[in-house]
Amino acid sequence: MGPLADRLSAGLALRRENHLYRHRLTLESAQGPLVQCEGRQYLNFCSNDYLGLAAHPRVIGAFQRAGALYGVGSGASHLVCGHSAVHHQLEDALAEFTGRPRALLFSSGYMANMGILTSLLQRGDHVFEDRLNHASLLDGGLHSGARFQRFGHNDVPALERKLARADGVKLVAVDGVFSMDGDTAPLEQLAASCSRHQACLMVDDAHGFGVMGPRGAGSTEAAGLDAGAVPVLMATLGKALGTSGAFVAGSELLIETLIQQARTYIYTTALPPAIAAASLESLALLREESWRRDHLGQLIARFREGARQLGLPLVESASAIQPLLVGDADEALGLSARLKAKGFLIGAIRPPTVPAGTSRLRITITAAHSEAQVDQLLEQLGHCPIGR
Ligand code: PMP
Repeated sequence: MGPLADRLSAGLALRRENHLYRHRLTLESAQGPLVQCEGRQYLNFCSNDYLGLAAHPRVIGAFQRAGALYGVGSGASHLVCGHSAVHHQLEDALAEFTGRPRALLFSSGYMANMGILTSLLQRGDHVFEDRLNHASLLDGGLHSGARFQRFGHNDVPALERKLARADGVKLVAVDGVFSMDGDTAPLEQLAASCSRHQACLMVDDAHGFGVMGPRGAGSTEAAGLDAGAVPVLMATLGKALGTSGAFVAGSELLIETLIQQARTYIYTTALPPAIAAASLESLALLREESWRRDHLGQLIARFREGARQLGLPLVESASAIQPLLVGDADEALGLSARLKAKGFLIGAIRPPTVPAGTSRLRITITAAHSEAQVDQLLEQLGHCPIGR
């Protein structure tokens, strides 16, 4: 590899020096509050399986039955011969659940965001993004050819000033629930601002879908916003639904445009049909059993109250994502390692995922946890020198 190898080695060495080197955990069990990892059992507080559906017997059963019927691989892209009846059924169910005319499946959330932004926008347009948006939204905006502008986190007046100065096609994209902070976007104000300036609002509700809102339809439902206010709604299936993939919901015009234009839709193998069948079952559970959302809400409140009493550096978050702000990358890594030694899996999130100086422990609580497990976590955190 010649000079390339030298550059790569120097890059890795620098990462190590700055405590930014990333490692993978190797799990030997299903997702759940207790996981087997590298020969030991851990209490898991870093999964996005917010409703505990990834290993639910009904979801596994649906997956197995569809595997027997459709086989494992989808065989081709949706536009060749990879689109099956169960994919179609899931799209219809997601459209109905989100109150939109149509929905379209993508193989991942990353691909959905890239596909949406690069299909809808072109040179001469304007795209505005919250500076804490997920990497896939930022990358989609940057690759779209449109003029890309970030605005301060949740700073609607700053956005409004930028919108007022721009002409032509304008799109505003935000996370509904911010993935590393857990706070929510001020969707009502954003929608009003977009409406005043004839801009299109796109919400990535990866962390709100299934969890927020009276029916679990997400943060736009919680904010009381319909399809008119949020014409482009995207969410992932790999979090609250416990499966994999993503969808976009919106108008006939939006979905047909994406089918014709989105390169990350057109040039990739469709999700396995069994994943679509499992997602349909998760969606049914989500609709039938609201107790998971209620229990999760109670656990979040219990964690926050306990953390407040311990003086831990909580951030303003009402979601299942409850980060503790630490600051330095090496400190966050040290705390994560210390908790791991005590049997708790909690990720240390460091730059460039979050801004420098804001490294954190990203604690995620799920409906599969018990009160006792949350109390165990709090007790352990009480022994850690966090924010003190
Ligand atoms: N958007 C947000 C806000 C996310 O947090 C994520 C995943 N972490 C994605 C998009 C990407 O979704 P996927 O994992 O399905 O690619």
